Amino acid sequence: MVDYIVVGFGLAGLSFVNKLEDNNKSYLVYENSSEQSSRVAGGLFNPVILKRFTPAWLASEQLQLAMNVYKNIESKLDVPLISMFPILRRFNDIEEQNLWFEACDKPSLTRFLSSDLIKNQNKALDIPFHFGEVKHAGKIDVSTMLRLYLSYIESKNSLVTESFEYDKLVVKEDFIEYKGVKAKNILFSEGYGLRNNPFFNYLPLQGNKGEYIIIKSEELKLNEAVKSSIFIIPLGDNLYKVGATYNNQDKTPDITVSAKKSLEKKLSRFLKVAYKVVDQVAGIRPTTRDRRPFIGTHPVYKNLHIINGLGSRGILIGPYVTEKLYASIEKGVTLEKEIDINRYFELR
Ligand SMILES: Cc1cc2nc3c(=O)[nH]c(=O)nc-3n(C[C@H](O)[C@H](O)[C@H](O)COP(=O)(O)OP(=O)(O)OC[C@H]3O[C@@H](n4cnc5c(N)ncnc54)[C@H](O)[C@@H]3O)c2cc1C
Repeated sequence: MVDYIVVGFGLAGLSFVNKLEDNNKSYLVYENSSEQSSRVAGGLFNPVILKRFTPAWLASEQLQLAMNVYKNIESKLDVPLISMFPILRRFNDIEEQNLWFEACDKPSLTRFLSSDLIKNQNKALDIPFHFGEVKHAGKIDVSTMLRLYLSYIESKNSLVTESFEYDKLVVKEDFIEYKGVKAKNILFSEGYGLRNNPFFNYLPLQGNKGEYIIIKSEELKLNEAVKSSIFIIPLGDNLYKVGATYNNQDKTPDITVSAKKSLEKKLSRFLKVAYKVVDQVAGIRPTTRDRRPFIGTHPVYKNLHIINGLGSRGILIGPYVTEKLYASIEKGVTLEKEIDINRYFELR
C-alpha cells in the first residue's frame, strides 16, 4: 500500500510529489511523455499581466510560496534552477507609458512595477518609447527540474514510465487498486491529457497551443527578458526563446510553419540584428473557461483527486494549488470555491 499514485509529472505532478516528499508520504508516479506543456514552457514567473498592467491572480501570495518551493527543490536536487531577472515591457506609444505610471501607483502593483522609464541601451533592439521594468520576476529551468526530479524518483523505484490505463483502476471505499498496487489516494495531473480520463473529463478543459522558436544570436547580448507582442527569454550561450503563440483551434502536438512565420514577423518589428532559428517547440496549455484551475476531489469517489487547468501560469499556480489540495485531502480544510471542481458538479 502506498499513500498516493500520481498520474502525470509536469509542473502540477512535480509540485504535488514534492509536497508528498516533504511529508514523508509514499508514492508511485506514472508518466508517459504524451504531453509537453511543462517541458517546453518558457519558465517565466511574472506577477503582472503585461497586456493590461494588472496584478496576476493572487500574485504576491503565489510568488512567495513558489520561491520557497523551488528553493527547496534546488537543494534537494543540488542544482541551480532559479534565475532572477527583470522583465522589460516595451512600450508601443506614450499612451502605454501613461497607463504604466497609473498602474505603478496602485497598491497591489507598487512592489512589482518600477516607476522609472528604462532607456534602451541595447543596440540590437529598436525601443523608441522605452521600457517599463517588472521586479521580482525571473525564470525557472523547468526542463532540467523535471528531468532531474524524474531521475530522483526513478532512483527510489517510484517511477513507472508507461501510460496509466484508466479502465484498470478499481475504486474501493477506502483505497484504490491499480495493477496489483494499492494506494490510499490517486492524484490525476495529466495536463491536456485529462481529456482521456473518464473520471474527470466532464470538466470543461479548453487547451491552448503554444509554440516557441529558439534563436541563436551573437549580437543580441540580452540578460533580461523583453516583452513586446512576444517575449524574448535569455537561455544562455547566445540562445533565446522567442514566443509564445496562442492558438485555441489547433490541438495537435506538432510544431507549425505558420507559428514560426508569425513569431519571426513579430520579432522583426524590434530585433535589429542577425539571428538563426535553431529549434522550435510546441505544447498544449491546460486552460479553463473561467481562468481558474481545476482542483479537488471527485464528487463520488473520495480517494480520486485532481490538479489541472494551470493555464499559462503553471510555475506560480502549481505550488499554490498543491498546498490547498494537500490540506484539503489530509486535513479536511475546505477548498476555496473559485478553484474547487465542485463548481462544475452539475456537468458530471
Ligand atoms: C509554449 C508554452 C509556454 C509556456 N510558458 C510558461 C511560462 O513562461 N511560465 C509559466 O508559468 N507557464 C508557462 N506555460 C504554462 C505551463 O507550462 C502550464 O501551466 C503547465 O505546463 C501545466 O502543467 P501540468 O503538469 O498541468 O501539465 P503537463 O505539463 O502537460 O503535464 C502533464 C503530464 O502528464 C503526463 N500524462 C498525461 N496523460 C498520462 C497518462 N495517461 N499516463 C501517464 N502520464 C500521462 C504527460 O506526459 C505530462 O508529462 C507555458 C505553456 C506553453 C505551452
